Amino acid sequence: MKGKNGVVLLGLKLEMRKVLIEADKVWKAHGQELTITSGLDGIHSPGSLHPYGYALDLRTRYFDKAEYTTIAAELRAALGDKYDVIVHYTHIHIEYDEILRR
Ligand SMILES: [Zn+2]
Repeated sequence: MKGKNGVVLLGLKLEMRKVLIEADKVWKAHGQELTITSGLDGIHSPGSLHPYGYALDLRTRYFDKAEYTTIAAELRAALGDKYDVIVHYTHIHIEYDEILRR
């Protein structure tokens, strides 16, 4: 597991630790090293959970479309319904959206 240059993980919430652990396992199973491309850094849409430390973006560019779909399904199964796994063209975004239901 590694972070892209300049990625900010300081302030990441404890709930996101599970994401790092599970995503690391999934990436390894698919022969890649997990790279975090955004944590608390970067420009995100209003209402984003990134600035609060409840969201992570993960690099996916080395996966083809079919493998990417499989990976998203594996992440959803591993993380359960308190987390939202959103597939973007350039990355996968995972957030702890249970925080919005409190
Ligand atoms: Zn994101």
